[in-house]
Amino acid sequence: MAENRLLDSSLARNLHSVNLCLTRGANMDRITIFMKSKENSRLLAEWLSDNYHVTVADVTRRLNGPFDLGILDVLALQELRESIRSRKQSEEPAFLPILLITSRQDVGLATQNLWQMVDEIVLTPIEKIELQARLETLLRARRLSLELKRRNEDLEALVQAVTHDLRAYLRVILGFNRALNEDEAGRLDERCLHYIERIKSEGEAAQALVDMLFDFLHLGRDSVGNRVVDLSLIIKDCIHTLNSYIRNQGARVLLEGELPAVQGDPILLRTTFYNLISNGITYVAPGTEPLVTISSDVTDLAYRINFSDNGIGIAPGNHERIFQPFVRLHGVEEYPGTGLGLSAVRKAVELMGGRVGVESDLGRGSTFWVELPRNE
Ligand code: ADP
Repeated sequence: MAENRLLDSSLARNLHSVNLCLTRGANMDRITIFMKSKENSRLLAEWLSDNYHVTVADVTRRLNGPFDLGILDVLALQELRESIRSRKQSEEPAFLPILLITSRQDVGLATQNLWQMVDEIVLTPIEKIELQARLETLLRARRLSLELKRRNEDLEALVQAVTHDLRAYLRVILGFNRALNEDEAGRLDERCLHYIERIKSEGEAAQALVDMLFDFLHLGRDSVGNRVVDLSLIIKDCIHTLNSYIRNQGARVLLEGELPAVQGDPILLRTTFYNLISNGITYVAPGTEPLVTISSDVTDLAYRINFSDNGIGIAPGNHERIFQPFVRLHGVEEYPGTGLGLSAVRKAVELMGGRVGVESDLGRGSTFWVELPRNE
């Protein structure tokens, strides 16, 4: 009976778990126990230390030191709530799991914003098998998040190096091309001048692609802002930036009604709206004057902003695909672009906790919508 008890008093109830041992062993995940009861900490540490790297922490201190999973009781939670919150934040985008052990069924009701601090609750009396399963699930999520973070960092370093080198090569190619044109234009025939012009335009397109790729990967890398942003101002700013494009295309951009103020990040919102408006102007049939109409709806949970155009439309089978990087439904000779605009839109909107989608059919225009959560 004694070895079945994880915590003191009558907390353990699963007699059959006596022989259930933790079998992993090889992977020494680091668990730190923050519990007011010294006896409970000791018993728990004893049981877990066969398979994990266990530390018992001083509850009066902050959550310092490296660990992969924290186990707390309610008293420690009350003492450490601010520390938990900031520690979790500082680990992002990796996931730092916190497991709460309590006897209170209603702990969720009794503790404000519990789920900002705690990822899992195990009620006493504890069953070893249940605790083990929850620990393993949380640790697996921790490992995956660390792996994902590491891969993202590798990818970012790679892109950083590649874009840096590509930019340098392109600068040199375009520089020599310019020199050739300036120094030798008088001695070159039409065909050569045409080649020089082609090198220039393709080189500039490659430069634009590298810049877009760089911006796309850096989108939201700094912390995502969450302040009140007046969407009408963002739209006006986008229209201002697009002014000469709007004029050249003979386009109109109409704002239907007032747009709300939302909680969000102004840079991400600008990226989103800029891309949706410029796409609405670009993807029209030849001879059509582009018209983009922007409107909004409010539901209980979200603000929805709609961007409707009178363009060529999108077949339903492509509604999901177009949000993936480098998916283009048309060649550059037909419509200019890099295929990164809508993936940047989706990334920006999702970073703010929202969703984006499109309603459209071929030849019938499109309505792109963005939903942003109402966090007031
Ligand atoms: P880009 O515009 O740079 O090609 P996007 O990611 O913004 O890249 O768009 C992906 C593809 O989706 C476009 O190439 C185009 O085929 C299609 N698309 C985007 N917006 C619209 C629209 N408003 N109407 C019709 N097709 C669109």
